[in-house]
Amino acid sequence: MATERTLAILKPDCVRKELVGEVLRRIQDAGFQVRAMKMLTMSKTEAEGFYAVHEDKPFFDDLTDFMSSGPCVPVVLEKENAIDDFRSLIGATDPDEAADGTIRSDFADSIEQNIVHGSDSPENGRQEASYFFPEHEIVANT
Ligand code: ATP
Ligand code: MG
Repeated sequence: MATERTLAILKPDCVRKELVGEVLRRIQDAGFQVRAMKMLTMSKTEAEGFYAVHEDKPFFDDLTDFMSSGPCVPVVLEKENAIDDFRSLIGATDPDEAADGTIRSDFADSIEQNIVHGSDSPENGRQEASYFFPEHEIVANT
C-alpha cells in the first residue's frame, strides 16, 4: 500500500487537558511518522476556513468558537494507509460511539470536544496540511 499523509490537529481540549504527550505517544506507537508540527491558536476566521465544509451545519458556530478557544497542535503524519488508519486510531466522532481503546473513547468529553482531528481523504490531507505548513516546513523521510 502507498505511503499517505494525513493532517491531525490535537484540539484545544487536548492541550488544556495536558494530553499532548500521551496522544502523540499513541500516534507514534501506531507507526505514524511526524513530518511537521507546531502549536498555535487559530483565530475565529482561521477556524471557519479550516472547517468551511461544515459552514451550513447547526454546530458550525460552536465548533469554530471551540477550535479558536486556545492553542492547538497541527501535525502532519505519514504512514501507509494513513487516512484510514488514523481515523481507526482516533475512533468515531462521538466518543460514546467510539470503539474501546481509541483516543476519542479514552479521552474525549463530547462530540464537539473530541480531542483530535484527522483528514478524511488523501486530497483533504494535502489541502489541510498546506493550511498550516508551507511545503518547506514538512520534513522528508529521515
Ligand atoms: P474531524 O473532522 O474533526 O476529524 P470527524 O471527521 O470525525 O472530525 P466531522 O463530521 O468532520 O467529524 O465534524 C467535524 C467536527 O465537528 C467534529 O470533530 C466535532 O468536533 C464537530 N462536530 C461534528 N458533529 C457535531 C455535532 N453533531 N455536534 C457538535 N459538534 C459536532
Ligand atoms: Mg471531518
